[in-house]
Amino acid sequence: MPNVPMKEMLQDAAARGYAVPCFNAINLDMIRGIIQAAEEENSPVILCHAEIHFKYTPLEQIAPIMVAAMNNAKVPVSILLDHGKSFSATMKAMKLGFNAVMFDGSEYNYEDNVQRTAEVVKIAREFDVSVEGELGYVTRPVSGGAEGADDDSIIDDTSYYTDPEQAGEFVERTGVDALAVAFGTVHGVYLKKPNLDIHRLGQIRDNVAVPLVMHGGSGLSEVDFSDSIHQGIAKINYYTNMALKVSDKLREQLIEKQEHVFYHDIMMSTIHEFSEDARQVMRMFGSHQKA
Ligand SMILES: [Zn+2]
Repeated sequence: MPNVPMKEMLQDAAARGYAVPCFNAINLDMIRGIIQAAEEENSPVILCHAEIHFKYTPLEQIAPIMVAAMNNAKVPVSILLDHGKSFSATMKAMKLGFNAVMFDGSEYNYEDNVQRTAEVVKIAREFDVSVEGELGYVTRPVSGGAEGADDDSIIDDTSYYTDPEQAGEFVERTGVDALAVAFGTVHGVYLKKPNLDIHRLGQIRDNVAVPLVMHGGSGLSEVDFSDSIHQGIAKINYYTNMALKVSDKLREQLIEKQEHVFYHDIMMSTIHEFSEDARQVMRMFGSHQKA
């Protein structure tokens, strides 16, 4: 499949009312399972690797595998650096063939976030790389297992949510192609029932000229997803649920087997389980039959 810029993928999703699923894929088995699902469901898909996951798989090792997966797939695939926190990681990802990068400057103050994101966009333009920025802050409560260090008490703190007016200005000043917004989702496992600020999301959409991105897509209801998609979400990042569900399935299978267990059998089960979960997600986000 020819390289499809993430920017175009998300514009199509916004225009046709679905969201492209973006999966963190930290090894070959996950990549194979997700691509298999995308081909079976005829869905566009984004494979991503987060800077926080470099400790599991270095970027240099996974990048060529992701590039090959993108080039050989029968459906549109984009590969994205997820939550690039450092300038160096975003530059490395572009050099290694990623056609999209997320620069996450959400931990900086507004002005610094604008400056740093704009700098990444300026360079990315030269290489036809799409850029996602983040304004507001999607939290990572530590007891939700999201590899973050946020205190659980900040989950409902709306001061971290994206300000609709500022969002419009941020997109104009930085030139990002997509914007990750905070309106009540969290990274990791939800510690209590999520209460999304859909009204705010609609206000952001009215102020922003680019597709919006939801992070923390694990554990929301189908209604939450469809409401969010209606209000401008065109890309949904999804990982936690899949990582837990697949491990649970593998545990069951290993306990059931009384005989020797060969690693290649676990590997094939892993690919199958990731694929099954990814297929469900594609149907839920409405991206199936949209490739
Ligand atoms: Zn995220």
